[in-house]
Amino acid sequence: EVKITDLRKSFGDTQILKGIELKVADGEFVSLVGPSGCGKSTLLRIIAGLEQESAGSISIGTEPVSGIRAADRNLSMVFQSYALYPHLTVAENIAVPLRMRQMTRWQRLPLAGGLMPGAKRREQEIAAAVAQAAETLEIGALLDRKPGELSGGQRQRVALGRALVRAPAAFLLDEPLSNLDAKLRVHTRTEIAELHRELGATFIYVTHDQVEAMTMSDRIAVMMGGEILQCAPPQKVYADPDDLRVAEFIGSPK
Ligand code: ATP
Ligand code: MG
Repeated sequence: EVKITDLRKSFGDTQILKGIELKVADGEFVSLVGPSGCGKSTLLRIIAGLEQESAGSISIGTEPVSGIRAADRNLSMVFQSYALYPHLTVAENIAVPLRMRQMTRWQRLPLAGGLMPGAKRREQEIAAAVAQAAETLEIGALLDRKPGELSGGQRQRVALGRALVRAPAAFLLDEPLSNLDAKLRVHTRTEIAELHRELGATFIYVTHDQVEAMTMSDRIAVMMGGEILQCAPPQKVYADPDDLRVAEFIGSPK
């Protein structure tokens, strides 16, 4: 479960998040929608540990994550821009989260220098995990390429592979399909839905696309003015909005 309680965030004097309350159950798929600039990406970045909250609390599972650095939180984030390292191969890009965790562990052992015992076994584990993620996303043939040699859809799969490789409890996806053309978007949407079913992990999915939100989600959270106005199943949000602002945003029948 991902539980967000009275989460607040200000940039300077401007309050962006004004007391976000959201509880996402294990294995649930929740889409986060709302007008541009309402704070969706900021909320995701705070959950991921890439941005510091001003107040409030977040827990993942039973564990409060405040103060836990991003690499050690049991979740993965996927960005609209893919955020791949251009100089690394696909395989190395996918392995990044595993190496980050490995580094922290080694840094906590100040006496150990040079090549660690077990390093070779660790390399084999990493290679196996990368191969498995690549197979799931059908990018096994691309492992030696660089991101510059891939199409947009292939890059997005690599970004998903990198999220997948650490087998997190939760995935945070920030408009992962918005750079793809319409056809590929529908295709990849189906794949993400399948991935969700297979993994049974928790998904929080930011999108501008109402059809995506309606078709993929267990619940849709409508965010506006720094708050979540309603979080309910798609049909409920559409047919029985709690709030006029929700109705207008979703385009509910009057
Ligand atoms: P979009 O749908 O366009 O992606 P969003 O809902 O993701 O929008 P955010 O990117 O979270 O919106 O931004 C929310 C507000 O916070 C915006 O007004 C933005 O300008 C502001 N903001 C975001 N990051 C910072 C920052 N580092 N410093 C100052 N203001 C910021
Ligand atoms: Mg955004």
